[in-house]
Amino acid sequence: MTTYHIWTVGCQMNKADSERLGSGLEQLGLSECDDPWTADVVVLNTCVVRQSAEDTATGMLGALKKEKEKDPARRIAVMGCMVGPQSKELSRRFPQVDTWARPQEFEPILQMAGETVGIDPDGCIQELLPADPRVSTFIPIIHGCDKFCSFCIIPYRRGREVSRSIEELVYETEMLVSRGVREVILLGQNVDSYGHDLEPAHDLADLMYAVNEVEGLDRIRFLTSHPSDMSAKIIRAVGELPKVCENINLPFQAGDDVVLERMRRGYTRDEYLRKVDEIRENIPGVAMVTDVIVGFSGETESQFANTLDILTQVRFDKVHSAAYSVRPGTIAARQHPDTVSVEEKKRRLVQLNELQEGICGDINSGFDDSEFDVLIDGHSRGKYQGRTRTDKLVYIENSETFETRIGGFAMVRITGTSPWSLQGEVTAAEMSATGDRLRVYPA
Ligand code: SF4
Repeated sequence: MTTYHIWTVGCQMNKADSERLGSGLEQLGLSECDDPWTADVVVLNTCVVRQSAEDTATGMLGALKKEKEKDPARRIAVMGCMVGPQSKELSRRFPQVDTWARPQEFEPILQMAGETVGIDPDGCIQELLPADPRVSTFIPIIHGCDKFCSFCIIPYRRGREVSRSIEELVYETEMLVSRGVREVILLGQNVDSYGHDLEPAHDLADLMYAVNEVEGLDRIRFLTSHPSDMSAKIIRAVGELPKVCENINLPFQAGDDVVLERMRRGYTRDEYLRKVDEIRENIPGVAMVTDVIVGFSGETESQFANTLDILTQVRFDKVHSAAYSVRPGTIAARQHPDTVSVEEKKRRLVQLNELQEGICGDINSGFDDSEFDVLIDGHSRGKYQGRTRTDKLVYIENSETFETRIGGFAMVRITGTSPWSLQGEVTAAEMSATGDRLRVYPA
């Protein structure tokens, strides 16, 4: 049987694309193989947000070149953010690659795989949805980004924003639920910008109201928000809709107005903090997550202190932190010299992460003896694990005493905490034999 392997790096959008492409390849009769070095069709789904991610992909291409020399029948495709509008230069550098495809551009790869197995993909591929999806599954709702933050390469690689219709997304959710999905994660580079380009225009709140009606679906999440586009209507919808989880990922990137302006983020520090207040007023118990960059071009010690101050004030539940690295082709690469040394960036990153570890530890310790609905999504080392509505990772200690299963809900009492996770004991579990639900979301 012809085999395929999809090697994926980068964000959730790439993971969602890989799942969908895998579905198409399986509909063509290929079977998945864990080993990129033996698969007949190898697809690299690439990321270029950081230079190191791009270097990893080019390293992989170098290794695959040798494999292809041994077996010229092997097919290699590259998709994702490494592939810009022009792939001529890439073809010259990497002649071992048979097919190049931009993000969400599945057809060239399906065509190539179809030729390998002698099947015309036209007409034989239904919707590109995972046949056996995970209990919590990504749904891309808007592609591209119109924001052009000065440090970011994404808009140049993923193109301008294009939203998918509400009808298509509701249908896709229904299909996924019929295959066992209980939670969907609505994805976009800037998810709050969803729908402005539709005719008639809609927004993320309209989509969430529609998806909330899908029978059998239990939870809805969405990623990633932008402080300038997260409207009062969206915030209200999250507060009102029972299936939408109280978990907001709102990157602030820097806590200083001068740095924010240089980053072209489009908001000030005060505007960001007011947005957080508005979210907390409207969404009780909300967990806040953010992204932050340290050592951006010209960032002084006092400007960095302003970033730490935002962390202290907001007390995020989770922070994705990174040291700034220049991406060629961005506005920052052209206009703002990378003046902060590597050592200093590392020092600031360590300082920020230590601060955040203390905050996370403090927040989580407050959950001792609380009870949560946990959607169980995995099992490792003899223990089930799952997530609360606020996206806290919970390890379950006594699941063998209940009919706990992946894809089921359990009520879990927290017995131990750390900055990164919670541990707990099941007090009641959804019965897998009858499918009865004890509690899916708060009444
Ligand atoms: S909002 Fe800014 S950081 Fe996010 S993808 Fe768009 S340009 Fe990049």
